[in-house]
Amino acid sequence: MIRVETIKELKAILRAEREKGHTIGFVPTMGYLHEGHMTLVDEATKSNDCVVMSIFVNPLQFGPTEDFDSYPRDLERDALRAKERGVTILFTPNEEEMYKRKMSATLQVHDGVNVLCGAKREGHFDGVATVVMKLLNIVSPTHAYFGKKDAQQVAIIWRMVEDFEMDVTIVPVDIVREEDGLAMSSRNVRLTPYERKEAPRIYALLKHAIAQSQTVEELLDVAFKQAHELELAELDYVELRTFPDLKEATKLEGQLILAIAMNYEHARLIDNIIWEPTRKDR
Ligand code: AMP
Repeated sequence: MIRVETIKELKAILRAEREKGHTIGFVPTMGYLHEGHMTLVDEATKSNDCVVMSIFVNPLQFGPTEDFDSYPRDLERDALRAKERGVTILFTPNEEEMYKRKMSATLQVHDGVNVLCGAKREGHFDGVATVVMKLLNIVSPTHAYFGKKDAQQVAIIWRMVEDFEMDVTIVPVDIVREEDGLAMSSRNVRLTPYERKEAPRIYALLKHAIAQSQTVEELLDVAFKQAHELELAELDYVELRTFPDLKEATKLEGQLILAIAMNYEHARLIDNIIWEPTRKDR
């Protein structure tokens, strides 16, 4: 595995890869790697000659009261994991390298942004879109891999790539979970032992609401009630929307997403299920 910290060096290496006719798979992350990230690497390895992973905690996507400073970081451990899993190039720029000066232009996302995580995290998806655009321009991958755990992010990036006619295929990857159902997240380490014990109920309540309900109202009612029953976390939102359009769902039809965000004392956890209610195999 090659470790690269500068954009110039990365571009030179990738130019040589492309000259050899190699396809490039790209996995952007904020590090503190877990099995969810590694599954993206596995998917990238299946379809590409060269796998680039970036680790960059992007300040543009954190609000002033959010956890940018305390976001978990461990670059040396991450580098070992990435190497073991077969990442070809690990790109770890610092803030100065990515934003040498204040960006003269940034992206503003208009659609699918005032709902779910975007409703309270003002400007978050503008920051995400801006850094993803910049990273995609640096790497110019054939495929880029994003987890469905951040389903709203996938939906927004998908549209951005279409709207800007970018030559990259966005590949969404299923959520990887702990054995007890908790969606893997870098923020899970911030849960106290009691919170960690309660947190798998988030996924359980999503499954339960979907399995029990015949109508949209019933489904949201069950989900709300059960979310409020969690003792250690506060409900931020639970919403049912169409996917990937993220419009309000009025019927249990078509591809839908039931998404939730819960605030524990030191960790905001999100989870979702994307499914088609009319299909019997859910
Ligand atoms: P992050 O480092 O949290 O920004 O995540 C980097 C990428 O990994 C994003 O595309 C996430 O959606 C994805 N990811 C994070 N957690 C999981 C998970 N549990 N399962 C699948 N993908 C994930």
